[in-house]
Amino acid sequence: MLRVTDRGLYCEAGDFHVDPWRPVPRAVVTHAHGDHLAWGCDAYLVAEPGRAVAQERLGQYASRVEGIAYGEVRTINGVRVSLHPAGHILGSAQVRLEHGGEVWVVSGDYKTAPDPTCAPWEPVRCDLFVTESTFGLPIYRWPDEARVVRDINAWWARNAAEGVTSLLFGYALGKAQRLIAGLDPAIGPILLHGAVVRMTELYREAGIALPPTAHATAMRESRRDAVRGAIVVAPPSAENTTWARRFGTTSSAFASGWMLVRGARRRRGVARGFALSDHVDWPSLLSAIEATGASRVWVTHGFTGAVVRWLGERGVDARAIPTRWEGERDDAAVMEESARQDAAVIDEDARHDEAVIDEAARDDAAVIEERDT
Ligand SMILES: [Zn+2]
Ligand SMILES: [Zn+2]
Repeated sequence: MLRVTDRGLYCEAGDFHVDPWRPVPRAVVTHAHGDHLAWGCDAYLVAEPGRAVAQERLGQYASRVEGIAYGEVRTINGVRVSLHPAGHILGSAQVRLEHGGEVWVVSGDYKTAPDPTCAPWEPVRCDLFVTESTFGLPIYRWPDEARVVRDINAWWARNAAEGVTSLLFGYALGKAQRLIAGLDPAIGPILLHGAVVRMTELYREAGIALPPTAHATAMRESRRDAVRGAIVVAPPSAENTTWARRFGTTSSAFASGWMLVRGARRRRGVARGFALSDHVDWPSLLSAIEATGASRVWVTHGFTGAVVRWLGERGVDARAIPTRWEGERDDAAVMEESARQDAAVIDEDARHDEAVIDEAARDDAAVIEERDT
């Protein structure tokens, strides 16, 4: 029902792509992260709760985006297509395809852990499951989310008591809002980097309850003392910038699944790392695959080898399929597009702080990293 082409997964019967890497006539998209949402397609089909964030990311192509409710069936050239919650970020979806008596599901990115900012992952029974494997190694086992959230608030409270500003780095779409949702506003003001402000507004408009926030740069310019004891949520690209240094005495931390590993914390050079991921860890990945009942599994996006081997030993017909990030060497155009998207976000903040523009080049790397939130 699907095959891998130089533009990504293609459904020949339905004549559409799922999460294409390049512009195509018709794209069915799992979610709005840069490595799943290509610019310049003629038509996009997304889950309705994620429509606004996808449109925000697509800028000039926003009018080409159509949303359908989770579970609603759209028949495209005889292929029954429906979208089901993936639990990754707001509006993230698994794509279910039914044709010729077979059901295939493309997971996109997903997690089974609780997240107050999006609908929970649902197992969808299928014959073939296309799964991500970002953290597909046995070393990745997430600590309890509630405990991580308590640790973040405790870190912030300690900093606030000492008059230090806390800088908390996490990806602007998804991770930032999940972090904000867990912050305790009784500790102090919650301030946002410009790149986080717009996405957070869209989450609120979608009905996601979040504590009050303010724009960090505007706040800093109006009352310098207002940022003392505050927490500032910013994208990783803002780390080590002039923007970040202007907050005076700060303590910084990075929230990502990668922070589980000590070496990754050292490389980032942040004081603290909080292991909070929007992907499944190793045990959840395996139980999620099992819950689909699939006898065939395609593995992509991460540590494919370990997952393929583990499944193969248990009699599942598993194989790795390439992503544009691993299998393709012709990445230049894709990276350019990603950089352009982020540059647009940076522009918003530039009105307040031209120093951020100097760091725009870093965002290229940040967008690439975003696939690994
Ligand atoms: Zn993602
Ligand atoms: Zn991804």
